[in-house]
Amino acid sequence: MAPLLVFLLAGVALASRGDREPVYRECVSACEQRNCTGARLQDFRAEQPLYMRLTGWACLDDCRYECMWDTVSLYIKEGYAVPQFHGKWPFSRFLFFQEPASALASFLNGFANLVMLKRYRSSVPVSCPMYQTCLNFAIVSINAWFWSTVFHTRDTAITEKMDYFCASAVILHSIYLCCMRTLGLRYPSVASVFGALLVLLFGCHVSYLTLGRFDYSYNMLANASFGMINLIWWLMWCLRRHSHQPYLWKCVLVVVLLQSLALLELLDFPPVLWVLDAHALWHFSTIPLNILFYRFFKVATFCF
Ligand SMILES: [Zn+2]
Repeated sequence: MAPLLVFLLAGVALASRGDREPVYRECVSACEQRNCTGARLQDFRAEQPLYMRLTGWACLDDCRYECMWDTVSLYIKEGYAVPQFHGKWPFSRFLFFQEPASALASFLNGFANLVMLKRYRSSVPVSCPMYQTCLNFAIVSINAWFWSTVFHTRDTAITEKMDYFCASAVILHSIYLCCMRTLGLRYPSVASVFGALLVLLFGCHVSYLTLGRFDYSYNMLANASFGMINLIWWLMWCLRRHSHQPYLWKCVLVVVLLQSLALLELLDFPPVLWVLDAHALWHFSTIPLNILFYRFFKVATFCF
């Protein structure tokens, strides 16, 4: 268990302007020599709260955190724009939460999924043809939001990959859900073959990003492409059936909003009050969409 924990909590080393700054580097190096060796390290460990130790916050992390704020104050005092550090904006830590707003928003998305799944299960008969596929989709979504909460609580090489991979699994499962609804009920074997292809695609995607260096541009392009296929396929189906089932506007609204709200990420501004950044805003904005999506699942589509 211990080696696994160390592996999970191994830090991420992504360079940004802030951490390339000599003032920051010297500060971290001096702090590490002063506080993270010998008797001072023993003191640090003795004084560190248990929740910080359990979530893998090390002495070096504390040095980086303190030096980050020293550097930020210096930048602000000199009139320069706030820099990023190790690929992230400076966030005020709350307890052991590295990015409290994004972690809270991820948790609320997961919770919304859980509540809506419970309602779905209590109101839709198991005999409905899409029941199991919808249930699986809900489980894949809840898993993704769990890892998103973990990643925003504590960013490490492993938690970052889990966040990205589980998010990709949700988009691919949504494509499968659409395939099941449009083709699978009439041609189950087509849906099975397509599902197997999606699993293969997901396996290749994960292998490529795991075996070599993590390719951020490829990951973004791949997810954007999966998202576009998902959007176009659902939209085509919704628009074709709209005259028969007017409540399909919920589906149109959800798929369009899910895709367009992701653009919020492009704003990429320094966190307001060192808490709320564009990424957290995007995660907060998707909470009501979960409710709408499940209503669409339940009421309109999958039991006819
Ligand atoms: Zn996130």
